[in-house]
Amino acid sequence: MAKINRNYLKLPGSYLFSTIGKKVREYSASHPEAKIIRLGIGDVTQPLAPAVITALHSAVEEMGNAETFRGYAPDLGYDFLRNAIAENDYRSRGCEISPDEIFVSDGAKCDCGNIQEIFGTDNTIAVCDPVYPVYVDSNVMAGRTGEYDSDTGRFRNVIYLPCTAENGFAPELPEEVPDLIYLCFPNNPTGAVITKDKLQCWVDYANEHGSVILYDAAYEAYISEKEVPHSIYECEGAETCAIEFRSFSKTAGFTGLRLGFTVIPRELTVEGVSLHSLWARRHGTKYNGAPYIVQKAGEAVYSEEGQRQVRSQIAYYMENARIIAEGLKEAGYEASGGINAPYIWLRTPGSMTSWEFFDHLLENAHVVGTPGSGFGPHGEHFFRLTAFGSRENTVEAMERIAAM
Ligand code: PLP
Repeated sequence: MAKINRNYLKLPGSYLFSTIGKKVREYSASHPEAKIIRLGIGDVTQPLAPAVITALHSAVEEMGNAETFRGYAPDLGYDFLRNAIAENDYRSRGCEISPDEIFVSDGAKCDCGNIQEIFGTDNTIAVCDPVYPVYVDSNVMAGRTGEYDSDTGRFRNVIYLPCTAENGFAPELPEEVPDLIYLCFPNNPTGAVITKDKLQCWVDYANEHGSVILYDAAYEAYISEKEVPHSIYECEGAETCAIEFRSFSKTAGFTGLRLGFTVIPRELTVEGVSLHSLWARRHGTKYNGAPYIVQKAGEAVYSEEGQRQVRSQIAYYMENARIIAEGLKEAGYEASGGINAPYIWLRTPGSMTSWEFFDHLLENAHVVGTPGSGFGPHGEHFFRLTAFGSRENTVEAMERIAAM
């Protein structure tokens, strides 16, 4: 008789976004006149850059021609894209990452979720609290986290790293040493960043204890401050302890096109085994490569024109972020983020819980955001707004919040 993977039954329901959807639908049904503005979404709204569209068209033409048609892509990515990534994202910043240390994929979510497969199920994991849920859930599915404790909202065998206003939403090194450490900067949901010195402490800690850092830099393109590291490989010794994930989703609006990559340096070994070779084996077995036309579109992002265009889209979102952050502060809220990330993290007023504030905002301003408690217990009494809306909606939402 077939058996299921019972670890899946330990997953708490995807309560957050389904509850938000249900509440908004109910409110709209009872208040059909309300024009609801959604600042809860983590998806981009601007169309693809013209340079990307041109590259897509020409790659489509190639696919329709016998001489230029391409079948299966190389498992690990086309050289033209791996070279462009190594040069533009790493070498130009002084990081010695070579093209063959880059694994092209269809996005960071898959890579962040799948990477745990190359580690034993007896590894302990540490995650930030609050956290992007994929890191924990993918480890739950693999049976690495123990049981869920609904009283605390935590899994028993996971080390949670509190990210609070006191530590600037960048966690302290844990006393109990984890085997795998998930870090994400610029952070979703808090919009916080980590300084290079502090990140260097994590790298030193991981090297000293034989831990591996899984560094999610999906929002790297939003960094505006010079002292904030774009890559963990800017830290000395990161090649022997860190894997980095990147995405074209928020960098260039590829959420629907799908493209990302993972960097695993050849020097990174665990128990004497190269993680690069394990991930190459995994990729080769379970993945048949990102589509040629999408990789050509990704290459176009690195062209001079492509860079200019995607930077101007990012500037558009970051102007929204500025409007939100400043609007909140003027209205008397305590808010952070929005400087190096498209997320603004605000403290709910008085003693309101995250969900109470969600209802309050929906009913009084017709604005939808995301309750911080949905990202972990330390997100309670916080709330996330995103800068991915249109300018018009962002401005109107802030006027309504100010009036509220
Ligand atoms: N990592 C973080 C922290 C994210 O917030 C997201 C998307 O919201 C992803 C990864 C997923 O990126 P992709 O679209 O490349 O799968």
